[in-house]
Amino acid sequence: MMARALELAGKGLYSTTPNPRVGCVIAQGETVVGEGWHEKAGGPHAEVVALGQAGAQAAGATLYVNLEPCNHQGRTPPCVDLIQKNKIHRVVAAMVDPNPQAAHGGAKLAAAGIGFEHGLMEEEARELNVGFVSRMTRGRPWVRMKIAATLDGRTALADGRSQWITGAEARKDGHRHRESRRPTADRTRRGDAAPAAARPGRQPPRNSGSGKNYRRRECLDFLRR
Ligand SMILES: [Zn+2]
Repeated sequence: MMARALELAGKGLYSTTPNPRVGCVIAQGETVVGEGWHEKAGGPHAEVVALGQAGAQAAGATLYVNLEPCNHQGRTPPCVDLIQKNKIHRVVAAMVDPNPQAAHGGAKLAAAGIGFEHGLMEEEARELNVGFVSRMTRGRPWVRMKIAATLDGRTALADGRSQWITGAEARKDGHRHRESRRPTADRTRRGDAAPAAARPGRQPPRNSGSGKNYRRRECLDFLRR
């Protein structure tokens, strides 16, 4: 059940930011009676969707969710209240909520007489929301660095003949990352109306002026920030 909840949560991989990815499964024994996932910030939480699907069958059921149900009034009401109202018997979370503003939902559930457990598939759950967890616990984003370079440390021939040193699949992946991660505001501020990622198959504009070490310097500057 938790594996399914994590699978559902993964559907929001590129759309929930700044919110975490959350999936929820409600089961009566081995029978699933409701499922849901959080699609985007401002939209209903996974628990709300799953409870809506389960309807009256939620009474006495177990709710599996990869993140402790929230206990705060954000853009949507606290999930713990809805869980209580729908007479869920037991809640199993993969991990507790590292967001101090939304945390302690489990304690509230337990106080209301609803069983609360956590730790099932916790490692997978942390990996799924690694950026969210890092922001909440360290106040820093989780940075992934992806570098393609030839054995001699270059990225292209000096005369510009060579276009790419990676394959089509890697380029597609790079475009996907750029498009999903780069904040719209950032693009707007820089007047970069047509990002490279919107033109698959084309090289991003080359940095002019400073020569071959420009990119290396750019990377080092970024890491020093
Ligand atoms: Zn919630």
